[in-house]
Amino acid sequence: MPKADVHNHLHLGGTAKRLKAKYRDASITFPETYDGLDGMIDFIYGTLNKIMLTKDDVKFFMEMAIESSIDDNITHLEASVDIGLARFFDDSIEQVIEVVMELKERYGSQIDFRPDIGVNKDLALDKVYSDGVKCIKSNVFSGIDIYGKEVGRQMEPFLDLFDQARNHDLKTKVHIGEFSSHETIESAINILHPDELQHGIRAVDSEETMNLILENNIRLNVCPQSNFALGSSASIAEHPMRKLFDRGINLTINTDDLLLFDASVTDQFLDLHKHEVFSFEELDEIRKNAFL
Ligand SMILES: [Zn+2]
Repeated sequence: MPKADVHNHLHLGGTAKRLKAKYRDASITFPETYDGLDGMIDFIYGTLNKIMLTKDDVKFFMEMAIESSIDDNITHLEASVDIGLARFFDDSIEQVIEVVMELKERYGSQIDFRPDIGVNKDLALDKVYSDGVKCIKSNVFSGIDIYGKEVGRQMEPFLDLFDQARNHDLKTKVHIGEFSSHETIESAINILHPDELQHGIRAVDSEETMNLILENNIRLNVCPQSNFALGSSASIAEHPMRKLFDRGINLTINTDDLLLFDASVTDQFLDLHKHEVFSFEELDEIRKNAFL
């Protein structure tokens, strides 16, 4: 069945198989689980960043993400392009925008690729604004997504960027509540007024937070395998999605980083069914939600 993936970090969205076929000399072993977000970041620095060295490497990582999505019959792909990747392109965000435009054209007949502007909260704020605003004005992107460390990071500095994105009809997404508390979810909603949350699963800990999500009609783009591999959910069977779904919250199922977590959207649908988290009919409803 055709599927959507709406929480995908583009340069980490390819399969390990495609990566190994290209970089035959590199010996890469992907762990089953990571020691939290820090463990994942260590793996990226220690392994992937030793392979992805040039702008051509970055282009390949992005291409293989789109091709891997097509392999899984993803027909609608919302994936973030990290603006910090400009460092591989002579610090030129214009070159990054050019590459993204080219990918949209090249794969347009096979997949509806809607790139998000990817902003890591740790990027210098002047860079976030100078490069971010260029991306907003380029008319190449369909949304904006903020991510990085969830705990102890301020959201206020990004409000103006979100307002500018909204003025250009871009969809707004925030990573929050994967590891951080339900209170941080409430404050992200109250400060940034996002359309969607990436993860947001800790909302399950508070009736008020779930109500706030419902009142604002905010969709949660969840990635169960990523949550399991990083330790924010003890198992697929115990994933908080079930409770969130029963509260009437709009959910989708996504890959996050296919390269790191090795579970396509299809794999995760099957897993959730196998562990009796959702029935086929419920999974089909979730599948369709992701296209809206
Ligand atoms: Zn993510």
